[in-house]
Amino acid sequence: MQSKGIINGKIYSEGRLLESNLYLQGEKVSLLSKELLPCEEIIDATGLYVLPGLIDPHVHFHLGVGAGVNEDDFEAGSKKGLLGGITTYIDFLDPVRSVNEIENSFIKRMELAAGSVSDFAFHGTVANPSCSAAELMKAYKGHGITSIKLFTTYSDTDRRTYDKMIYELLKESKATGAKIVIHAENDELITADALTLLKDHESSRPVISERSEVIKLAEMAKDTGGHLYVVHVSAGSTVKMLQEQYSKELSDGVITLESCPHYFIFNSELYEKEGGYLYTMTPPLRPEKDRQLLVDSIGQIYTIGTDHCPYPAEKKNKKFTSQIPMGVGGIQYSFLSMYTMFGEVIIDKFTKNPAMAYGLYPKKGVLQPGADADVVLFDPQKQTVIEDTDSIYNRMECKGAIERVYLRGKLVAEHGKVLSSCGEYQNRGQRR
Ligand SMILES: [Zn+2]
Repeated sequence: MQSKGIINGKIYSEGRLLESNLYLQGEKVSLLSKELLPCEEIIDATGLYVLPGLIDPHVHFHLGVGAGVNEDDFEAGSKKGLLGGITTYIDFLDPVRSVNEIENSFIKRMELAAGSVSDFAFHGTVANPSCSAAELMKAYKGHGITSIKLFTTYSDTDRRTYDKMIYELLKESKATGAKIVIHAENDELITADALTLLKDHESSRPVISERSEVIKLAEMAKDTGGHLYVVHVSAGSTVKMLQEQYSKELSDGVITLESCPHYFIFNSELYEKEGGYLYTMTPPLRPEKDRQLLVDSIGQIYTIGTDHCPYPAEKKNKKFTSQIPMGVGGIQYSFLSMYTMFGEVIIDKFTKNPAMAYGLYPKKGVLQPGADADVVLFDPQKQTVIEDTDSIYNRMECKGAIERVYLRGKLVAEHGKVLSSCGEYQNRGQRR
Protein backbone atom coordinates (compact mmCIF):
# COMPACT_ATOMS: atom_id res chain seq x y z
CA MET A 1 0.00 0.00 0.00
CA GLN A 2 1.42 3.38 -1.07
CA SER A 3 0.77 6.48 1.07
CA LYS A 4 -0.15 8.72 -1.82
CA GLY A 5 -0.78 8.33 -5.53
CA ILE A 6 -0.70 11.42 -7.73
CA ILE A 7 -2.44 10.04 -10.78
CA ASN A 8 -3.14 11.04 -14.39
CA GLY A 9 -0.71 13.95 -14.37
CA LYS A 10 2.25 14.72 -16.61
CA ILE A 11 5.35 13.94 -14.59
CA TYR A 12 8.54 15.89 -15.27
CA SER A 13 11.32 13.35 -15.60
CA GLU A 14 14.61 13.34 -17.54
CA GLY A 15 13.73 16.64 -19.19
CA ARG A 16 10.35 15.42 -20.47
CA LEU A 17 6.73 15.38 -19.35
CA LEU A 18 5.59 11.74 -19.07
CA GLU A 19 2.02 10.59 -18.67
CA SER A 20 2.26 8.43 -15.58
CA ASN A 21 1.30 8.12 -11.94
CA LEU A 22 3.63 9.15 -9.14
CA TYR A 23 3.57 7.18 -5.91
CA LEU A 24 4.84 8.39 -2.56
CA GLN A 25 5.68 6.35 0.48
CA GLY A 26 6.04 8.47 3.61
CA GLU A 27 8.58 11.23 2.87
CA LYS A 28 9.97 9.65 -0.31
CA VAL A 29 9.05 9.00 -3.90
CA SER A 30 8.46 5.25 -4.18
CA LEU A 31 7.80 4.76 -7.89
CA LEU A 32 6.49 6.04 -11.20
CA SER A 33 4.04 3.70 -12.87
CA LYS A 34 1.23 3.80 -15.40
CA GLU A 35 -0.61 1.21 -13.34
CA LEU A 36 -3.15 2.13 -10.73
CA LEU A 37 -1.85 0.86 -7.38
CA PRO A 38 -3.57 0.73 -3.98
CA CYS A 39 -2.99 3.97 -2.02
CA GLU A 40 -4.16 5.53 1.21
CA GLU A 41 -4.82 8.76 -0.66
CA ILE A 42 -5.38 9.38 -4.36
CA ILE A 43 -4.76 12.84 -5.82
CA ASP A 44 -6.14 13.37 -9.31
CA ALA A 45 -3.69 15.46 -11.31
CA THR A 46 -5.49 15.32 -14.65
CA GLY A 47 -4.33 18.24 -16.79
CA LEU A 48 -1.56 19.16 -14.34
CA TYR A 49 2.20 19.05 -14.54
CA VAL A 50 3.77 17.11 -11.68
CA LEU A 51 7.11 18.84 -11.06
CA PRO A 52 9.91 18.18 -8.58
CA GLY A 53 9.83 20.69 -5.71
CA LEU A 54 11.53 23.87 -6.91
CA ILE A 55 14.87 25.03 -5.53
CA ASP A 56 15.98 28.63 -5.07
CA PRO A 57 19.77 28.56 -4.70
CA HIS A 58 20.09 32.24 -3.72
CA VAL A 59 17.98 33.90 -1.03
CA HIS A 60 18.60 36.28 1.86
CA PHE A 61 16.19 35.89 4.76
CA HIS A 62 16.72 37.97 7.89
CA LEU A 63 19.72 39.67 6.33
CA GLY A 64 21.38 42.27 8.51
CA VAL A 65 23.54 44.74 6.58
CA GLY A 66 24.37 48.27 7.73
CA ALA A 67 21.37 49.99 9.27
CA GLY A 68 18.90 47.17 9.70
CA VAL A 69 17.49 43.78 8.86
CA ASN A 70 15.63 43.13 5.60
CA GLU A 71 11.93 42.44 5.48
CA ASP A 72 11.44 38.66 5.46
CA ASP A 73 12.58 36.44 8.30
CA PHE A 74 13.00 32.73 7.60
CA GLU A 75 9.37 31.94 8.34
CA ALA A 76 7.88 34.73 6.22
CA GLY A 77 10.34 34.21 3.37
CA SER A 78 9.99 30.44 3.25
CA LYS A 79 6.18 30.76 3.31
CA LYS A 80 6.34 33.03 0.28
CA GLY A 81 8.65 30.49 -1.30
CA LEU A 82 6.20 27.63 -0.77
CA LEU A 83 3.48 29.66 -2.48
CA GLY A 84 5.81 29.89 -5.46
CA GLY A 85 6.58 26.16 -5.39
CA ILE A 86 10.00 26.59 -3.73
CA THR A 87 10.43 23.62 -1.36
CA THR A 88 14.18 24.06 -0.82
CA TYR A 89 16.30 27.20 -0.73
CA ILE A 90 19.90 28.06 -0.02
CA ASP A 91 20.62 31.05 2.20
CA PHE A 92 24.01 32.36 3.37
CA LEU A 93 26.01 32.39 6.58
CA ASP A 94 27.38 35.78 7.60
CA PRO A 95 30.82 36.64 6.17
CA VAL A 96 33.82 35.38 8.15
CA ARG A 97 37.47 36.43 8.15
CA SER A 98 38.87 33.33 9.83
CA VAL A 99 37.93 29.69 10.41
CA ASN A 100 37.29 30.39 14.09
CA GLU A 101 34.20 32.40 13.18
CA ILE A 102 32.56 29.65 11.14
CA GLU A 103 31.06 27.67 14.01
CA ASN A 104 29.36 30.76 15.45
CA SER A 105 28.14 31.98 12.07
CA PHE A 106 26.54 28.58 11.53
CA ILE A 107 24.86 28.42 14.95
CA LYS A 108 23.52 31.94 14.58
CA ARG A 109 21.88 31.33 11.20
CA MET A 110 20.58 27.90 12.23
CA GLU A 111 18.78 29.53 15.16
CA LEU A 112 17.20 32.12 12.88
CA ALA A 113 16.21 29.40 10.41
CA ALA A 114 14.28 27.45 13.04
CA GLY A 115 11.07 29.07 11.75
CA SER A 116 11.57 27.86 8.18
CA VAL A 117 8.57 26.06 6.71
CA SER A 118 10.58 24.54 3.86
CA ASP A 119 13.89 22.72 3.55
CA PHE A 120 17.05 24.78 3.43
CA ALA A 121 20.82 24.79 3.18
CA PHE A 122 23.51 27.43 3.56
CA HIS A 123 26.40 28.76 1.56
CA GLY A 124 29.41 29.79 3.60
CA THR A 125 30.56 33.39 3.06
CA VAL A 126 34.07 34.79 3.36
CA ALA A 127 35.29 38.39 3.47
CA ASN A 128 38.99 38.91 2.83
CA PRO A 129 39.92 35.92 5.01
CA SER A 130 43.32 35.61 6.64
CA CYS A 131 43.46 31.79 6.85
CA SER A 132 44.12 29.25 4.10
CA ALA A 133 41.55 28.15 1.51
CA ALA A 134 41.94 24.52 2.64
CA GLU A 135 41.18 25.38 6.27
CA LEU A 136 38.05 27.28 5.26
CA MET A 137 36.75 24.49 3.10
CA LYS A 138 37.37 21.86 5.73
CA ALA A 139 35.61 23.86 8.44
CA TYR A 140 32.56 24.56 6.28
CA LYS A 141 32.38 20.95 5.17
CA GLY A 142 32.20 19.98 8.84
CA HIS A 143 28.84 21.77 8.88
CA GLY A 144 27.63 20.16 5.65
CA ILE A 145 28.46 23.24 3.59
CA THR A 146 30.17 22.71 0.25
CA SER A 147 29.83 26.11 -1.38
CA ILE A 148 31.62 29.30 -0.41
CA LYS A 149 30.41 32.74 -1.44
CA LEU A 150 32.63 35.77 -1.81
CA PHE A 151 32.50 39.29 -3.20
CA THR A 152 35.01 40.85 -5.59
CA THR A 153 33.65 44.26 -4.57
CA TYR A 154 32.69 46.15 -1.38
CA SER A 155 36.31 46.85 -0.42
CA ASP A 156 34.94 49.99 1.29
CA THR A 157 33.33 47.79 3.94
CA ASP A 158 36.17 45.22 3.92
CA ARG A 159 34.02 42.50 2.42
CA ARG A 160 36.08 42.15 -0.77
CA THR A 161 38.07 38.95 -1.25
CA TYR A 162 41.22 39.44 -3.30
CA ASP A 163 42.53 37.50 -6.29
CA LYS A 164 45.23 35.51 -4.48
CA MET A 165 42.63 34.02 -2.13
CA ILE A 166 40.13 33.45 -4.96
CA TYR A 167 42.79 31.59 -6.92
CA GLU A 168 43.62 29.46 -3.86
CA LEU A 169 39.93 28.71 -3.29
CA LEU A 170 39.48 27.67 -6.92
CA LYS A 171 42.51 25.36 -6.72
CA GLU A 172 41.11 23.82 -3.56
CA SER A 173 37.69 23.52 -5.18
CA LYS A 174 39.20 21.38 -7.94
CA ALA A 175 40.38 18.96 -5.26
CA THR A 176 37.25 18.94 -3.10
CA GLY A 177 34.45 19.62 -5.61
CA ALA A 178 33.21 22.60 -3.57
CA LYS A 179 31.69 25.50 -5.48
CA ILE A 180 33.20 28.97 -5.29
CA VAL A 181 30.19 31.26 -5.47
CA ILE A 182 31.11 34.75 -6.62
CA HIS A 183 29.44 38.14 -6.73
CA ALA A 184 31.47 39.47 -9.64
CA GLU A 185 31.92 43.18 -10.14
CA ASN A 186 35.25 44.85 -10.84
CA ASP A 187 35.64 47.00 -7.73
CA GLU A 188 38.04 49.41 -9.48
CA LEU A 189 35.47 50.28 -12.15
CA ILE A 190 32.64 51.06 -9.76
CA THR A 191 32.17 54.81 -9.39
CA ALA A 192 29.18 54.75 -7.02
CA ASP A 193 29.78 56.94 -3.97
CA ALA A 194 27.82 58.70 -1.24
CA LEU A 195 26.32 61.18 -3.72
CA THR A 196 25.40 58.88 -6.61
CA LEU A 197 21.84 59.61 -7.73
CA LEU A 198 19.31 56.91 -8.47
CA LYS A 199 19.28 57.78 -12.16
CA ASP A 200 23.02 56.95 -12.27
CA HIS A 201 22.72 53.61 -10.46
CA GLU A 202 23.40 51.57 -13.61
CA SER A 203 26.22 53.69 -14.99
CA SER A 204 27.94 53.80 -11.57
CA ARG A 205 28.20 49.98 -11.62
CA PRO A 206 28.50 49.50 -15.38
CA VAL A 207 28.26 46.32 -17.43
CA ILE A 208 32.01 46.48 -18.11
CA SER A 209 32.63 46.08 -14.38
CA GLU A 210 30.76 42.76 -14.42
CA ARG A 211 32.21 41.56 -17.72
CA SER A 212 35.84 42.42 -16.95
CA GLU A 213 35.65 40.73 -13.54
CA VAL A 214 33.96 37.63 -14.89
CA ILE A 215 36.53 37.13 -17.63
CA LYS A 216 39.34 37.25 -15.08
CA LEU A 217 37.53 34.73 -12.89
CA ALA A 218 36.81 32.50 -15.89
CA GLU A 219 40.50 32.45 -16.73
CA MET A 220 41.36 31.49 -13.13
CA ALA A 221 38.71 28.77 -13.18
CA LYS A 222 40.05 27.42 -16.46
CA ASP A 223 43.60 27.46 -15.18
CA THR A 224 42.76 25.66 -11.93
CA GLY A 225 39.90 23.45 -13.13
CA GLY A 226 38.02 24.59 -10.01
CA HIS A 227 34.29 25.17 -9.85
CA LEU A 228 33.30 28.79 -10.40
CA TYR A 229 29.64 29.68 -9.87
CA VAL A 230 28.83 33.27 -10.82
CA VAL A 231 25.76 34.54 -8.98
CA HIS A 232 23.21 36.97 -10.40
CA VAL A 233 24.71 37.54 -13.83
CA SER A 234 23.00 40.75 -14.87
CA ALA A 235 24.14 41.47 -18.43
CA GLY A 236 23.62 39.44 -21.59
CA SER A 237 26.97 40.60 -22.95
CA THR A 238 28.70 38.88 -20.01
CA VAL A 239 27.08 35.59 -20.97
CA LYS A 240 27.81 36.08 -24.67
CA MET A 241 31.48 36.72 -23.96
CA LEU A 242 31.73 33.50 -21.93
CA GLN A 243 29.86 31.55 -24.56
CA GLU A 244 32.35 32.71 -27.20
CA GLN A 245 35.49 32.13 -25.16
CA TYR A 246 34.70 29.53 -22.50
CA SER A 247 32.07 27.25 -23.99
CA LYS A 248 33.94 24.13 -22.86
CA GLU A 249 34.16 25.37 -19.27
CA LEU A 250 30.45 26.28 -19.35
CA SER A 251 29.47 22.82 -20.51
CA ASP A 252 31.74 20.80 -18.22
CA GLY A 253 30.81 22.55 -14.97
CA VAL A 254 34.00 24.58 -14.46
CA ILE A 255 31.87 27.71 -14.92
CA THR A 256 28.23 27.80 -13.82
CA LEU A 257 26.02 30.84 -14.36
CA GLU A 258 23.03 31.93 -12.32
CA SER A 259 20.73 34.82 -13.14
CA CYS A 260 17.63 36.31 -11.51
CA PRO A 261 14.13 36.98 -12.87
CA HIS A 262 14.46 40.77 -12.51
CA TYR A 263 17.36 40.97 -14.99
CA PHE A 264 15.26 39.25 -17.66
CA ILE A 265 12.10 41.28 -17.04
CA PHE A 266 13.13 44.86 -16.29
CA ASN A 267 15.68 47.32 -17.68
CA SER A 268 17.60 50.29 -16.28
CA GLU A 269 15.30 52.90 -17.85
CA LEU A 270 13.23 52.38 -14.70
CA TYR A 271 15.84 54.30 -12.68
CA GLU A 272 14.80 57.50 -14.45
CA LYS A 273 11.12 56.94 -13.80
CA GLU A 274 8.89 57.52 -10.80
CA GLY A 275 9.24 54.72 -8.26
CA GLY A 276 12.53 53.61 -9.80
CA TYR A 277 14.00 53.15 -6.32
CA LEU A 278 11.84 50.04 -5.92
CA TYR A 279 13.99 48.28 -8.54
CA THR A 280 17.37 48.81 -6.89
CA MET A 281 19.75 45.93 -6.34
CA THR A 282 23.43 45.21 -7.07
CA PRO A 283 24.40 44.59 -9.75
CA PRO A 284 21.77 46.96 -11.17
CA LEU A 285 19.23 46.38 -13.93
CA ARG A 286 20.83 46.76 -17.34
CA PRO A 287 20.08 48.76 -20.50
CA GLU A 288 17.52 47.17 -22.83
CA LYS A 289 20.16 45.82 -25.23
CA ASP A 290 21.82 43.81 -22.45
CA ARG A 291 18.48 42.66 -21.05
CA GLN A 292 17.41 41.36 -24.46
CA LEU A 293 20.77 39.63 -24.94
CA LEU A 294 20.34 37.94 -21.56
CA VAL A 295 16.93 36.65 -22.64
CA ASP A 296 18.50 35.34 -25.86
CA SER A 297 21.25 33.64 -23.82
CA ILE A 298 18.93 31.68 -21.52
CA GLY A 299 20.48 28.42 -22.77
CA GLN A 300 23.74 29.31 -21.01
CA ILE A 301 22.12 30.18 -17.69
CA TYR A 302 22.23 27.04 -15.56
CA THR A 303 20.17 28.13 -12.57
CA ILE A 304 17.66 30.82 -11.64
CA GLY A 305 18.00 32.27 -8.15
CA THR A 306 15.97 35.19 -6.88
CA ASP A 307 18.50 36.94 -4.63
CA HIS A 308 15.31 37.52 -2.62
CA CYS A 309 16.04 40.45 -0.30
CA PRO A 310 13.03 42.76 0.10
CA TYR A 311 12.83 46.05 2.00
CA PRO A 312 9.77 48.19 2.68
CA ALA A 313 9.18 50.85 0.00
CA GLU A 314 9.60 53.72 2.46
CA LYS A 315 13.11 52.52 3.37
CA LYS A 316 14.10 52.45 -0.29
CA ASN A 317 12.61 55.81 -1.24
CA LYS A 318 15.86 57.81 -0.96
CA LYS A 319 17.69 60.32 -3.11
CA PHE A 320 21.15 58.75 -3.21
CA THR A 321 21.84 55.09 -3.97
CA SER A 322 24.16 54.98 -0.95
CA GLN A 323 21.08 55.50 1.25
CA ILE A 324 18.98 52.81 -0.43
CA PRO A 325 19.10 49.30 1.02
CA MET A 326 19.80 47.18 -2.05
CA GLY A 327 17.68 44.16 -2.95
CA VAL A 328 14.23 43.15 -4.13
CA GLY A 329 11.82 40.38 -3.25
CA GLY A 330 10.30 37.85 -5.59
CA ILE A 331 10.77 34.25 -4.41
CA GLN A 332 7.02 33.66 -4.70
CA TYR A 333 6.87 34.75 -8.34
CA SER A 334 10.13 33.51 -9.82
CA PHE A 335 8.92 30.28 -11.38
CA LEU A 336 5.67 31.76 -12.71
CA SER A 337 7.41 34.75 -14.29
CA MET A 338 10.18 32.68 -15.83
CA TYR A 339 7.78 29.98 -17.07
CA THR A 340 5.74 32.74 -18.69
CA MET A 341 8.80 34.04 -20.49
CA PHE A 342 10.53 30.78 -21.42
CA GLY A 343 8.13 27.85 -21.00
CA GLU A 344 9.26 24.36 -20.08
CA VAL A 345 13.00 24.93 -20.66
CA ILE A 346 12.97 26.74 -17.35
CA ILE A 347 12.03 23.70 -15.27
CA ASP A 348 15.54 22.18 -15.07
CA LYS A 349 16.93 25.55 -13.98
CA PHE A 350 14.65 25.42 -10.91
CA THR A 351 15.04 21.72 -10.12
CA LYS A 352 17.75 19.38 -11.35
CA ASN A 353 20.37 22.05 -12.11
CA PRO A 354 20.52 23.77 -8.71
CA ALA A 355 20.36 20.35 -7.06
CA MET A 356 23.32 19.15 -9.14
CA ALA A 357 25.30 22.34 -8.68
CA TYR A 358 24.95 22.29 -4.92
CA GLY A 359 25.14 18.66 -3.87
CA LEU A 360 21.40 18.19 -3.27
CA TYR A 361 20.92 15.74 -6.14
CA PRO A 362 19.31 13.14 -6.29
CA LYS A 363 17.66 13.76 -2.91
CA LYS A 364 16.16 16.96 -4.33
CA GLY A 365 15.47 18.24 -7.83
CA VAL A 366 14.15 15.03 -9.38
CA LEU A 367 11.17 12.71 -9.14
CA GLN A 368 12.62 9.24 -8.97
CA PRO A 369 12.43 6.40 -6.43
CA GLY A 370 14.30 7.34 -3.25
CA ALA A 371 14.14 11.10 -3.82
CA ASP A 372 12.40 13.32 -1.29
CA ALA A 373 8.69 13.54 -2.11
CA ASP A 374 8.82 17.29 -2.83
CA VAL A 375 6.21 17.86 -5.52
CA VAL A 376 4.61 20.84 -7.22
CA LEU A 377 1.29 20.42 -9.04
CA PHE A 378 1.27 23.08 -11.74
CA ASP A 379 -1.65 23.91 -14.01
CA PRO A 380 -0.25 25.12 -17.35
CA GLN A 381 -3.71 26.05 -18.66
CA LYS A 382 -4.58 28.60 -16.00
CA GLN A 383 -3.50 32.23 -15.80
CA THR A 384 -2.21 33.92 -12.67
CA VAL A 385 -2.44 37.69 -12.33
CA ILE A 386 -0.10 38.77 -9.55
CA GLU A 387 -1.91 40.98 -7.07
CA ASP A 388 0.67 42.24 -4.62
CA THR A 389 1.10 45.98 -4.27
CA ASP A 390 4.33 45.43 -2.28
CA SER A 391 5.95 43.65 -5.19
CA ILE A 392 7.69 44.87 -8.33
CA TYR A 393 5.83 42.03 -10.07
CA ASN A 394 2.41 43.45 -9.16
CA ARG A 395 -0.16 43.16 -11.97
CA MET A 396 2.06 40.88 -14.05
CA GLU A 397 0.03 38.36 -16.01
CA CYS A 398 1.59 34.93 -15.82
CA LYS A 399 0.98 31.67 -17.62
CA GLY A 400 0.05 28.78 -15.36
CA ALA A 401 -0.81 28.44 -11.69
CA ILE A 402 0.73 26.63 -8.75
CA GLU A 403 -2.06 24.45 -7.40
CA ARG A 404 -0.51 22.33 -4.67
CA VAL A 405 2.90 21.88 -3.08
CA TYR A 406 4.13 18.83 -1.17
CA LEU A 407 7.23 18.80 1.03
CA ARG A 408 8.57 15.33 1.89
CA GLY A 409 5.18 13.79 1.18
CA LYS A 410 3.12 16.31 3.12
CA LEU A 411 0.72 18.84 1.57
CA VAL A 412 2.19 22.21 2.59
CA ALA A 413 0.55 24.74 0.26
CA GLU A 414 -2.69 24.76 -1.65
CA HIS A 415 -4.27 27.46 -3.84
CA GLY A 416 -2.25 30.30 -2.40
CA LYS A 417 -2.43 29.18 1.26
CA VAL A 418 0.41 27.73 3.31
CA LEU A 419 -0.49 24.84 5.60
CA SER A 420 1.54 23.88 8.64
CA SER A 421 5.01 22.69 7.81
CA CYS A 422 8.50 22.33 9.16
CA GLY A 423 11.72 22.66 7.18
CA GLU A 424 14.84 20.55 7.60
CA TYR A 425 18.47 21.53 7.21
CA GLN A 426 20.12 19.85 4.24
CA ASN A 427 23.59 18.62 5.06
CA ARG A 428 25.20 18.40 1.62
CA GLY A 429 27.36 15.62 0.35
CA GLN A 430 28.84 14.79 -3.02
CA ARG A 431 28.30 16.93 -6.09
CA ARG A 432 28.70 16.66 -9.83
ZN1 LIG B 1 22.64 37.80 -2.95
